[in-house]
Amino acid sequence: MKIIRLPDSWAARIAAGEVIERPASVVKELVENSLDAGAGEISVWVEGSGISLIRVSDDGDGIAPEDLPLAVERHATSKLAEEADLWRISTLGFRGEALPSIGSVSKFEILSRMRSMEAGCRLCVDGGKAGEAIVAGCSAGTTVEVRELFFNTPVRRKFLKSPATELSHICDVINHAALAHREIHFRLYNQGSLLCDYPGGVEPRDRLRQILGREIAAGMVPFAWTKGESRISGFLSKAPSSFSGTRYLTAYVNRRFVRDRVLTHAILQGYETLLMKGRYPAVVLYLEIPFKDVDVNVHPAKHEVRFRRQSEIHEAVAEAVRQGLRSEAKTPTSQLTRMGEEPCGAVHEPAVSYGLRSWISDAPLPRVEFTRILEEPPLARDGFFSSLEVLGQLLGCYLICSSPRGMAVIDQHAAHERVAFERMRRQLGDGAIERQSLLIPQILELPAGEAALLEQRLELLDRVGFNVEKFGRNEYVIRTAPALLPAGDYREALRRMIAEVAEVGESESLREGLEDRLATIACHGVIRAHRKLERDEIRALLRQLDEIDFATQCPHGRPVLIEFSEEQLERMFRRT
Ligand code: ADP
Ligand code: MG
Repeated sequence: MKIIRLPDSWAARIAAGEVIERPASVVKELVENSLDAGAGEISVWVEGSGISLIRVSDDGDGIAPEDLPLAVERHATSKLAEEADLWRISTLGFRGEALPSIGSVSKFEILSRMRSMEAGCRLCVDGGKAGEAIVAGCSAGTTVEVRELFFNTPVRRKFLKSPATELSHICDVINHAALAHREIHFRLYNQGSLLCDYPGGVEPRDRLRQILGREIAAGMVPFAWTKGESRISGFLSKAPSSFSGTRYLTAYVNRRFVRDRVLTHAILQGYETLLMKGRYPAVVLYLEIPFKDVDVNVHPAKHEVRFRRQSEIHEAVAEAVRQGLRSEAKTPTSQLTRMGEEPCGAVHEPAVSYGLRSWISDAPLPRVEFTRILEEPPLARDGFFSSLEVLGQLLGCYLICSSPRGMAVIDQHAAHERVAFERMRRQLGDGAIERQSLLIPQILELPAGEAALLEQRLELLDRVGFNVEKFGRNEYVIRTAPALLPAGDYREALRRMIAEVAEVGESESLREGLEDRLATIACHGVIRAHRKLERDEIRALLRQLDEIDFATQCPHGRPVLIEFSEEQLERMFRRT
């Protein structure tokens, strides 16, 4: 086979394939251009889920008539002035690739007028061939119209998903942009009818409500955190509400929406043990860092970034989330704890009955065991849990209480688990980890890359109780382990931690690995359910719950407490 030089039109289509994957990619690139042009209003029209038509119109700076032919040429941009700018990119675009890429796979027209000019200019591109720029009347700003997308790349068309799915990707693009640019008015029209309308200049919480809907937004709390030159802020869903996937996890780096493994990992780590396995929070996170500290030129569609100080960012984000949740997770909200129902439409009523149904139907019908604690209302009011008046113990497992807001049910096992777990965690934090020597030292063998990672962290491992020494080439001997861990094979635990270090690169993963294990021990070490508790034991437990953070969930993320407010009781009994 001979090497041939590809014809320009082929090369252009290959290059376009990286940037323009589906109609939503076109919308993303055009909206980014409008944002870079300082628009105050951005309107998007789509027809045929973006295949027949995508039109994006803005009131931004516009393009000078003499620049218009350049705008659709490859590697032509107004966003970089000198080479050094590549290392401090502050605009969303910078490659000068979007317009030519779109032009090479569609029938494309751009119409633009600078505010200072009387007339605008129009340019058409057909499958990559640009026509002449001609004078045209139009309002200030830029309108780009893309028709017959992928007409000359039929295979790409075949790979598209259903029209509804493609449209939902387009909505996502608008939503992601709007969450980061609340000063701007966004509109999306589908087949002529208004699908999204997000007026600009609103408060952060109003924007959140516009996009995520009232229900989800109401369950989120704002947070903010500054460390050095980085600022982290946004909204976090409160612990008990959770979702089955990561689609409500939105992260921005300097107002650029990214899907970043490091940020996602850090966010989830911030939630620590508050969520059950396989459940995810809703988070909007804005990270602002100096432009020079982030490389945005690592992904064709600019979805990913690289941080210069990755582990610092990871730690700061996890800490910001943890702090944001700390106070929230200490005292339950007045809402009934939601049991991870999907938050769309009217699914919230079932959440209410869920608590009741499982409570009732799990009970053996003939004889529900209830031990009355007849107790005086507590005097101590120094915390939510201590202020509960315990009425009795149901089924040897649940404490039924009268709470200041209504009725509360506590799972005594989950409560004990959390208390024990927090105690062990404190031990870990204080560096007062007790260690046990292994009678038979364990030999750990690792692939070369992982061995190098382990070797750099022997000291850290030692601090948490693992004494590990080099034994042979890529072989290590484990001599001690934390006394908190039950006896067993520690090699798998270490392997997992090292794999995590490779992914996110820091001590955080070690800590997480340990916490995971602590949660398991806490679970086995504490009072099992189905044990009658004496009154003193109950009061001690409630007091301890007030003293710890994250008291509302057990270390596996199951709820410790479910509360029915007076209002909810009334609603359940149809009194309102
Ligand atoms: P990039 O955004 O990477 O510069 P594009 O191909 O997306 O590359 O756009 C090329 C150039 O066209 C931009 O640098 C900008 O000068 C101009 N441009 C594109 N869209 C707009 C717009 N909506 N308003 C003003 N200028 C625009
Ligand atoms: Mg661009």
